[in-house]
Amino acid sequence: MDSYRHKGLRNRLVQEVIQKGINDENVLSAIANVPRHMFFESSFIQFAYQDKAFPIGAGQTISQPYTVAFQSELLEIKPGHKVLEVGTGSGYQAAVLCEMGAKVYSIERQKELHLKSSKLLPRMGYKLRFFLGDGYKGLPQFEPFNSIVVTAGAPQIPEDLLTQLAIGGRLVIPVGGDDFQIMTRITRESETEFSQEEFGNFAFVPMLKGVVK
Ligand code: SAH
Repeated sequence: MDSYRHKGLRNRLVQEVIQKGINDENVLSAIANVPRHMFFESSFIQFAYQDKAFPIGAGQTISQPYTVAFQSELLEIKPGHKVLEVGTGSGYQAAVLCEMGAKVYSIERQKELHLKSSKLLPRMGYKLRFFLGDGYKGLPQFEPFNSIVVTAGAPQIPEDLLTQLAIGGRLVIPVGGDDFQIMTRITRESETEFSQEEFGNFAFVPMLKGVVK
């Protein structure tokens, strides 16, 4: 259930991410609209509107709202864009992308998290497609994507994700080791050319290979 109290807390959260530098209206209204407390167990609900990552089980975390907003802004989503998310986790980032008008494809390697989020989001009214699989391989059957977002720290840029980008499309991915990663955006300029930009340090759980059933 959503309530005026939750909406009030979300408006405060929006002010917080604005202060940290987010200004894309489409992103801010998505943060204002997604009931983040519904991704938490009821005993942890008071943490839902703090700008912090939080454990969601299976050793994983729901990303910090600022980080979700930052990645979402870099994706430059327009309504109707096809977006691939690697690392469904709680489904919060996927819900934000849906609110922004994207057609979302989200892939998760841990079955427990995949099952939980693929039940929760449709109940909340979000329509998107969920896949259990290894995000290193992307979703070749659904390419090309206007944007791809990886929500786990990658040791290097997965080749398969680059080939699944539309021309003009963007891959937003934190690249680095276990301690920190550099937020990186790769734009596919043409069939064979890619450009790369870097946007500072973040700390994600690691991107791992294979599927956990
Ligand atoms: N976007 C999520 C963040 C979850 S944390 C949210 O909003 O809650 C990152 C997630 O990436 C974890 O659930 C982890 O299991 C998943 N992950 C890590 N490596 C992966 C891979 N190769 N393929 C798919 N998912 C992966």
